[in-house]
Amino acid sequence: MMISNGQSRVKRLIQQLEELGITNKEVLRVIANTPRHLFMPESLAHKAYENTALPIGNGQTISQPLMVATMTQLLMQHNCKNVLEIGTGSGYQTAVLAQLVDKVFSVERIATLQYQAKRRMRQLDLHNVSMRHGDGWKGWRSKGPFDGIIVTAAASDIPQDLVDQLADGGVMIIPVGEQNESQSLVVMRRFGDSLEQQRIGDVRFVPLVKGDVI
Ligand code: SAH
Repeated sequence: MMISNGQSRVKRLIQQLEELGITNKEVLRVIANTPRHLFMPESLAHKAYENTALPIGNGQTISQPLMVATMTQLLMQHNCKNVLEIGTGSGYQTAVLAQLVDKVFSVERIATLQYQAKRRMRQLDLHNVSMRHGDGWKGWRSKGPFDGIIVTAAASDIPQDLVDQLADGGVMIIPVGEQNESQSLVVMRRFGDSLEQQRIGDVRFVPLVKGDVI
């Protein structure tokens, strides 16, 4: 299904992203080619190319396109090849990454969301994605180390397991902060045993939940 005026809506979104500081042409090309309307309930598809987060059920959201673009652009600056994503959600960020890197590993704690995301990867012929139903605080140790880690939910503090699974020279993009308080987007890099952290700006994400998977 193609929504009416789909092409012009996509063009407008790309223009907005450019105006808001997204300069990586590859990232813009992939966002332009990824049908975001397939990653949400059909009743919201008319809003798919607006620059807003939208509800996807289970109290979760598909991230704002600007946030997906910003985090992806940050990862691509570091030439990442195998990437761990925490918080699959709709699978939209996963699909964008899958078109830019060699291999994506994605962990989600809510089984129904993971199931739908898996179906979307098949539908879009994205076969370089592996998904796991599990607790993102623990990462995915057997598949690491990763040269890129991207967390799409806000962590109260930086999960030590994720730091341990970051390759030498690798980069982690993670929103840090409590829910309902200001959260910062943190870029962490590993150089041997030393870690370097940079805060990029204020963001708002659903929380990276502690506890059992559902
Ligand atoms: N990138 C996704 C964002 C989804 S919102 C998208 O654009 O659709 C964040 C996701 O993180 C939610 O699906 C939520 O269930 C998941 N999440 C929260 N805590 C988690 C945890 N501890 N482990 C794995 N996934 C988690």
